[in-house]
Parts: sequence; C-alpha cells; structure tokens
Amino acid sequence: MSSEATCAVCGFQWSAISASEIPQRVKTATDSFIDVVLAAGPKVDTRPAPERWSILEYGAHLRDVLISIRERIVTASIEDEPTGDAIHREERVSLGFYKLDSPGDVASELAALSALFVRTFQALPAGYETREFVYSPVTPAKVTILWAGAQALHECEHHLGDIRDNLSLL
Ligand SMILES: [Zn+2]
Repeated sequence: MSSEATCAVCGFQWSAISASEIPQRVKTATDSFIDVVLAAGPKVDTRPAPERWSILEYGAHLRDVLISIRERIVTASIEDEPTGDAIHREERVSLGFYKLDSPGDVASELAALSALFVRTFQALPAGYETREFVYSPVTPAKVTILWAGAQALHECEHHLGDIRDNLSLL
C-alpha cells in the first residue's frame, strides 16, 4: 500500500492517520452508521441500483470488516509477518450470508464489533503499531498494524458516506 494513497471517493488519506485518533473516529462513524440503519425505514434493505448495496448490506459488510481486520491485527501481533485472510466481500452477499440479517441485528452487532475493535486497538502492546503483515492473498501488500487500523476507520467513514448517498438516491 502506498503511504501516499488517498481514497478517490471520500478523500481519506491513510498516511495522515495517527493511532491515537482511530478509536474515537471509529466510534463516531459507527454510531452515526447505526443511527442511519435504525432510521432508514423501508429504504434500509432497498438497493438504489442493482449493482449498489442496500444500507443493510453495507452494514453487514462493515460488521464483518471489523471482525476481519481485528483478527488480522491480533494475528500480526503474535506471528511474524503473517498473511491475513481475505474477506471476499462480494461473495458474502451473493451467497446469501446476509439475507437473514435484520436492521436490529446489524445495529446491535455493529455496536458490539465497533466497541470490541476499539478496545482491541487500545489494548495493543506499546510499539506494536509498526508490526508488519501481508494484508491478504487477494491484496498482497505488506502493511502495518497502524495501517490496518486506519483501513478499518476508512471502511467506517467511507461506508457511512455510501449509506447517506443511498438515502438521497432512494
Ligand atoms: Zn473512501
């Protein structure tokens, strides 16, 4: 991953993120995300276009992202330069793994996973932010635990933008 990378959609800059700001920003973004899920009414499970996820699908994806990145951070804290598991984001949706998720499920699980991710990140032993690992077999870039924390934050803030866009598209 280039340290100069900037998200073309939301403007997020990975290299601009410090470890100390990740917990509060993850909490703020996921709290706002949950508010949208719970207030969206019938828009929550409607796709604005066939190729664009619903608010509920984005929420289930974000929940799984927080699980997945947390596991990579824990593994990279223990093993030297492991390779993280790919999340296979599209297949989770197309195989129907999210079809039984209700807005209430996704809201409570996002709250739990956000809190757990934050506690894990805050509990990292001193200096572990610089430990390196390969992000996944699908995205085989060498990254640091700090970069993975920033990536989790990016997913929260970027997909919050996505679901707000859904509200205006529907
Ligand atoms: Zn983005």
